[in-house]
Amino acid sequence: MAIIASNFKTNHTRKSTATFIEELNSFLDEKSISSDVYVFPTATSLDEFNTVSNLTLGVQNAYATAKGSFTGEIGTEQLDEFGIKTILIGHSERRHILKESQEEITKKFNFYKELGYTIIYCIGEPLEVKEQGLEKTLEYLYEQFVGIDTNYENLILAYEPVWAIGTGVTATNNDIKAVHSAIKQKISKPLLYGGSVKVANVREICSIDGVDGTLIGTASWVVEDFKQIIENTKDL
Ligand code: PEP
Repeated sequence: MAIIASNFKTNHTRKSTATFIEELNSFLDEKSISSDVYVFPTATSLDEFNTVSNLTLGVQNAYATAKGSFTGEIGTEQLDEFGIKTILIGHSERRHILKESQEEITKKFNFYKELGYTIIYCIGEPLEVKEQGLEKTLEYLYEQFVGIDTNYENLILAYEPVWAIGTGVTATNNDIKAVHSAIKQKISKPLLYGGSVKVANVREICSIDGVDGTLIGTASWVVEDFKQIIENTKDL
């Protein structure tokens, strides 16, 4: 069963998120689609959505706290209000733009792990590492597992090459296959690919050995496209 996840990043309003979720939910229900679908809206758009059991709402980020004095952050007290039990951790935009260190990421991982959250844990290498070849790429990726319990039962991994995120450049099938099979040999958890996946290539990518689904940004923000992505992978 494919796992298909949408990361809204800093897109959609509270209103347009509600419309998106409602439409997506009806689609999954009417078509009896059984793929595991995740949507990560902005924190300001969270709400008590009434969804089918295979549609899960998660949060793109939260602080490792229940509540407290952490200006600009949210904690589990805010997430509990909406029944959120799923979180993205380690996304490349948080690592590279927001400068989250592996130490901070580990702390966050452990905090949300203790609470039983489903964690989609993202790893990925920048272009200059990719250009040094597979061995260096894997070395870099394994560094991103330092401090992370890869046996955690509610863990889903996402391999997202930094150079492929939001660039329109997708990794080649061979690159994806090589990295996924290496990671799969070490860690037996669902492993998503992310990085410029779209309607036209999602089926091919999700059919690669070792790819259990996909985490999508840009191409998932128009609900018709996201529905088509789910449709294209529903039997995988
Ligand atoms: C992402 O943000 O996780 C992502 C894969 O983005 P995009 O699909 O836009 O490359």
